[in-house]
Amino acid sequence: MLPRHYQSERCSIAKTLEIVGDRWTMLIIREAFFGAHRFDDFHRRLGVARTVLSDRLDRLVTEGIVRRERYQDRPARFEYHLTAKGMDLWPVLMALLFWGDRHAIEGPPPTVVVHRGCGGVPDERRMCSRCRAPLGPSDVRARRAGLGEGAADVPAPTVVVVEQ
Ligand SMILES: [Zn+2]
Repeated sequence: MLPRHYQSERCSIAKTLEIVGDRWTMLIIREAFFGAHRFDDFHRRLGVARTVLSDRLDRLVTEGIVRRERYQDRPARFEYHLTAKGMDLWPVLMALLFWGDRHAIEGPPPTVVVHRGCGGVPDERRMCSRCRAPLGPSDVRARRAGLGEGAADVPAPTVVVVEQ
C-alpha cells in the first residue's frame, strides 16, 4: 500500500488517492451511492470493523465528501449523505466497475447496473446502451447478476441496492 502522503508529488491523481485511495473509503462511497445512509447499514453491508468505519466516515465528512445529518436526538444518531463533491465520484466508481469487470473478475460481472427507465445497461461513457440517455446515480439501480430483481432483498454484504 502506498504511503498516505506524497510530499514530493504535485499531482491530482496522487492528491485524490490521499483522500479516497483507501479500500474501505471507496467501498463506503459505493454503498452511499447504492442507498446506505446509516452507520449500521454500512457496517452490515461491508462487514468492516466499527472503529475503521467510524474513522473513515469521519474522514469523509472532514473532506466534505459526505455530510452528517442527525435523524434522532436521544441517543443522537446520524445519517450520512453524499455531498455534491461526493456525487462527483460517480464516474470514478463506474470506471472502477468497468475496469474490474474486464480485468479483475472472471466470468460474468457480479454486479450489474441497469437504467431504471428502460432496463438498458450503461456503456463506458455512462450512456444507456438502449435509450442513449446519460445515466447518473439516481437513474440506475444495481443488482447481483443471475439473482433477478429480488436480489434487492438479499442481505449479503456485497449486494448493492439503489433506492435513493
Ligand atoms: Zn435507457
